[in-house]
Amino acid sequence: MNLFKQTTLIGIGLIGSSIARALKKKRLSKKIFIFSRSLNTIKKAKKLKLGNFYTNNLKESVKNSDLIILCTPLSTYKNILNKISKHISPNAIVTDVGSVKSSVVKIFSKFKNNKYHIIPAHPIAGTEKSGPEAGFADLFNKRWCVLTPMGNNNKKSLNILKKMWVSFGSKIQIMNPENHDKILSITSHMPHLISYSIVASALNVNSKEKSHIIKFSAGGFRDFTRIAASDAVMWKDIFLNNKKNLLKITKEFEKSLNLIKKYIKNNNSKNLYKIFIKTKKIRELIEREKQE
Ligand code: NAP
Repeated sequence: MNLFKQTTLIGIGLIGSSIARALKKKRLSKKIFIFSRSLNTIKKAKKLKLGNFYTNNLKESVKNSDLIILCTPLSTYKNILNKISKHISPNAIVTDVGSVKSSVVKIFSKFKNNKYHIIPAHPIAGTEKSGPEAGFADLFNKRWCVLTPMGNNNKKSLNILKKMWVSFGSKIQIMNPENHDKILSITSHMPHLISYSIVASALNVNSKEKSHIIKFSAGGFRDFTRIAASDAVMWKDIFLNNKKNLLKITKEFEKSLNLIKKYIKNNNSKNLYKIFIKTKKIRELIEREKQE
């Protein structure tokens, strides 16, 4: 069943193209209008038949759409919203997929006097890959999607947006943006920060050591390189937009690191063992939650 007459996807990378595929698979939108800034990406999206119309003109892309989804890096929002706001139809739903929510709500608040409905969102699903080829329709299946409504919507628009994510297989959680950013700083942003730091530390060795690191990377290092290969623009935006939470949680990480360092130094096998048993339990809890 069509929920939308026309959807505009602003940005057609991993997330935008996954939404396009999911909308098509579930037949939720009669037409899909795709905006990307580069002609090269538009060419790729066309070849993959992700939409019905393609443009690198922002204004043109949003006209007559009843759903508009920002799928670009956080640092692009202000500029994009300034350009499209006047051209959005009354009653259209404007949403996003950005990984940080407080700063997004702040940007969206400047546009709250318009007649369209703003509902920020964050699908907690992704990979380290980028671009339109990287997306797939089932990316959001069995994943959480957090919505952070900010009062610029009516019940109907919220229900329609929820329906879209549920059709994609997502589980919905309504949250306030501050809570979202705090939780995500622990579950996603800090692991990325640590991965970037670990892999960056390997840059400081001589070239012979480096070739050995590459060769014998299977011992754990390779897992961190997967995360540290994530898109550079997107992640520098996430770190800078969730600065307060990230710096706070980094302090907690430093405490754990120093404790483990101390136990190693003092040959404190009992306390090292105790910590590792506790961390193993967290893994078991996560595995259990996945099966539910
Ligand atoms: P992506 O694959 O790198 O695609 C980014 C898209 O944004 C491309 O269409 C790109 O256009 C466009 N873009 C980049 N810079 C731009 C600019 N300055 N002005 C206009 N358009 C620009 O990125 P993604 O992984 O889909 O991430 C998009 C959003 O999803 C981000 O806000 C991110 O926080 C959020 N998110 C990502 C993940 C994840 O795991 N990747 C998960 C959840 C949420 P061109 O190719 O034409 O340059």
